[in-house]
Amino acid sequence: MSYDLVVIGSGPGGYVCAIRAAQLGLKTAVVEKDKTFGGTCLNIGCIPSKALLHASELFEEAGHKFGKMGIRVGTPALDLPAMMKFKDEGVDGNVKGVAFLFKKNKIDSFQGIGRIVAPGKVEVKSAGGATETIETKNIVIATGSDVARLKGIEIDEKRIVSSTGALVLPSVPEKLLVVGAGVIGLELGSVWRRLGAQVHVVEFMDRILPGMDLEVARQFQRLLQKQGLSFQLSSKVTAIDASGNKLKASVEPAAGGAAETIEADVALIAIGRVPYTAALGLDAAGVKTDERGRVIVDAHFATSAPGIYAIGDVIAGPMLAHKAEDEGVAAAEIIAGRAGHVNYDVIPNVIYTFPEVASIGKSEEELKAAGIAYNVGKFPFTANGRAKVNLTTDGFVKILADAKTDRVLGVHIVGADAGTMIAEAAVAMELGASSEDIARTCHAHPTLTEAVREAAMAVEKWAISM
Ligand SMILES: Cc1cc2nc3c(=O)[nH]c(=O)nc-3n(C[C@H](O)[C@H](O)[C@H](O)COP(=O)(O)OP(=O)(O)OC[C@H]3O[C@@H](n4cnc5c(N)ncnc54)[C@H](O)[C@@H]3O)c2cc1C
Repeated sequence: MSYDLVVIGSGPGGYVCAIRAAQLGLKTAVVEKDKTFGGTCLNIGCIPSKALLHASELFEEAGHKFGKMGIRVGTPALDLPAMMKFKDEGVDGNVKGVAFLFKKNKIDSFQGIGRIVAPGKVEVKSAGGATETIETKNIVIATGSDVARLKGIEIDEKRIVSSTGALVLPSVPEKLLVVGAGVIGLELGSVWRRLGAQVHVVEFMDRILPGMDLEVARQFQRLLQKQGLSFQLSSKVTAIDASGNKLKASVEPAAGGAAETIEADVALIAIGRVPYTAALGLDAAGVKTDERGRVIVDAHFATSAPGIYAIGDVIAGPMLAHKAEDEGVAAAEIIAGRAGHVNYDVIPNVIYTFPEVASIGKSEEELKAAGIAYNVGKFPFTANGRAKVNLTTDGFVKILADAKTDRVLGVHIVGADAGTMIAEAAVAMELGASSEDIARTCHAHPTLTEAVREAAMAVEKWAISM
């Protein structure tokens, strides 16, 4: 068998790359080691976590908000197995969708572990141990990432879990210890808090959501605390004793010092993810990795070996599904002789809690560090008519614009539907818009997006509604 392109891995990077390549006329195959397509995102990441976030949010609304709007349903009761089934059905529909798209685009698929034997040759080893070798002009490595582990703490996916185990807990833990206040820890911590767990978050840094705009992170932490999550910042979990009925976690100040013991029923280790390249045979193929194990690529996604490219979580950059997808499209276009490109300055980042947090472009801290003069426009949802009637007044929109040119450099939103609203900022920034462009664009009333417009007006101090 001989192909123009073989993609190893069928996550959002790999499957999108394969589809785009097939659209451009390349004879394409995908190698996937797992039973279903879709990678981390569809099977154990974005999709199942969003299903549980959605269901648990409605559960909470039914308990706390419905009454205020005149809807009497009594106290909602949790049927966790049914909620898990709902999540699994959502995953199933999505992974089948990828299989359908492969067929539709005439993409061949090989089930098994892919190994690059040499440039142009991929060996596939099936679960039964049989191997076959596929010949191809080009290879795209899209093998994604795996959970990062804490030294000395073994993840059993039952009581000490990664995000994968936290998506399938059989019952609501009384006490959940979340190690790491990043996106995954806060999303899954929110799910289990809504379903009844006491959630305590330990974070090494002196703030939550490292890398996000600090004002946004601080406001978000206050909102999560109001909902019942507790935080212990500048602290590290150094060991977890799982010998008794309760887990006993040793927690020390990040700078070192006396340890205290925190008891929990379940501990979620959410300290990040690491690139996954096991069994790929990178050394033999001449593909170089950096000090963090990421495949090194140039601006055209080419690795150090001829005809071998890499995209998604396995290379540098934010570990996000849409970043992987965009790189998949760009790599396929480059391989097909076109001009593929990803604009890394315009990649949104969303936390799907309630309220949501969404940001794009530079934070205030980044602009200060780069010595770029900027103006700030801010608008709170308490002053937005739709947020008021929806009872979703928590949060604000903040727009950062270049002081000289007024070009939008960053947009940060804490609020209901922030993840959807950030798309407006993405389009504006992709087109090089100024804050005045957003301010003078008619926005439908009454919508939450009017807060984005008002924040843009506020850059030049003419917000109307506050
Ligand atoms: C709990 C959780 C929630 C998340 N939520 C979001 C979110 O809401 N939004 C967002 O943008 N991102 C989210 N992410 C991150 C997102 O899932 C990843 O950024 C994305 O999946 C990366 O895509 P990828 O194609 O690079 O790799 P992956 O999706 O990891 O896919 C890699 C695929 O390669 C296969 N593979 C690996 N090695 C081989 C081999 N040798 N042979 C054959 N196959 C192989 C794997 O089995 C896997 O299917 C979340 C992640 C987690 C864990």
